[in-house]
Amino acid sequence: MARLAVIDTGSCSGCEMEIASVLSVCDLGIELVSDQEFKTADILVFTGTITNNFLEEFKQIIHEVDKMKNKPVIIAMGICPITGNVFKETSNAPLNKWVAVDITVPGCPPKPPFIRASLEKALNLLQTRRKRNA
Ligand code: SF4
Repeated sequence: MARLAVIDTGSCSGCEMEIASVLSVCDLGIELVSDQEFKTADILVFTGTITNNFLEEFKQIIHEVDKMKNKPVIIAMGICPITGNVFKETSNAPLNKWVAVDITVPGCPPKPPFIRASLEKALNLLQTRRKRNA
């Protein structure tokens, strides 16, 4: 079982709805936890375009992630955290400027099969890391 938290950095909620729909129909062995519990997550999914409003909180989260002993798999979900999308002018994206991103999932929002594939890839990556650290 893996724990997954979604960090919304200023999304329209479209990505979150798609993630929730995938998790509700696919039995992947993933438990969705609240963003407040992100430090206990194995997989961190970032959504949204990293708005100025969220920037300080976002930096704090990245700082905490840096300190985590067992690094979570980081997913940039949707085109917003990958490029800033249509909000480029005011966005603080890309996410990989702030943290090492393991998996990117383009789309606005990404299609469910791509979300599912990204979660399966994250689980495989997690398994590899756990074996390496065992
Ligand atoms: S990628 Fe599209 S659906 Fe996802 S948060 Fe950005 S605008 Fe919304």
